[in-house]
Amino acid sequence: MLTIIPIPAFADNYIWLLRQAGMGVVVDPGDAGPVIAHFDRDGLQLAAILATHHHGDHVGGIPALLARWPVPVFGPAQETIPGRTRALREGEAITVPGIELELSVLDIPGHTAGHIAYVGRSHAPPLVFCGDTLFAAGCGRLFEGTPGQMVASLGKLSALPDETQVYCGHEYTLANLRFAAAVEPANVSIGERHRREKAKRERGLPTLPSTIGEERTTNPFLRTGEPTVRFAAEKHAGRPLDGPVAVFAEIRSWKNAF
Ligand SMILES: [Zn+2]
Repeated sequence: MLTIIPIPAFADNYIWLLRQAGMGVVVDPGDAGPVIAHFDRDGLQLAAILATHHHGDHVGGIPALLARWPVPVFGPAQETIPGRTRALREGEAITVPGIELELSVLDIPGHTAGHIAYVGRSHAPPLVFCGDTLFAAGCGRLFEGTPGQMVASLGKLSALPDETQVYCGHEYTLANLRFAAAVEPANVSIGERHRREKAKRERGLPTLPSTIGEERTTNPFLRTGEPTVRFAAEKHAGRPLDGPVAVFAEIRSWKNAF
């Protein structure tokens, strides 16, 4: 049976570990130290590495892991990923070595220019590893892309089935929900979710994975077409905004300064 657990790294990163029998696969290993400690403790062998984008806090641990385990490294075709052995683009599918999980690839530029997501449609429940593009109740900053690209990328993720488990790269959920409540103060689902997630953090538990269904009801960056979100964005901007991309751009810059 496949289990998926977070290995915490740095201040708020999660390196996702997929393990089955004695084999483990890691997603976005920004730091090798906590991965090696976990594998040694549990007697695991590394079978593969998956990368979603090139930022150091997601790929910085790859060289040290490869020095110990010379395994395949899957990563976006359009970015520089240390040790990459398989360059991936949207529409491609892989079977992850060691755990036999089938994943397909989506291009989701915006946070970085070549960012990809890995979608497991045949896993029950379906799942997605989306790096720093979609966060629980939030989204990544636009370092290399445009608001239009990010809206399109978030639209692809939002179109996944409601029960899809969302495995993202950081524990930002409570701060994101505080912002979500500022955008949509009348959305009761946001307040309920904040109470639920706060209780998890108080017990030292991760708030992830979330689900696409939860994100669709509480994440303002997936809700730029909703009249409530548009109204809040226009009020913040002090002018009318023409369509979801303009609404997205306004709430993204609002969040940057929140
Ligand atoms: Zn990043």
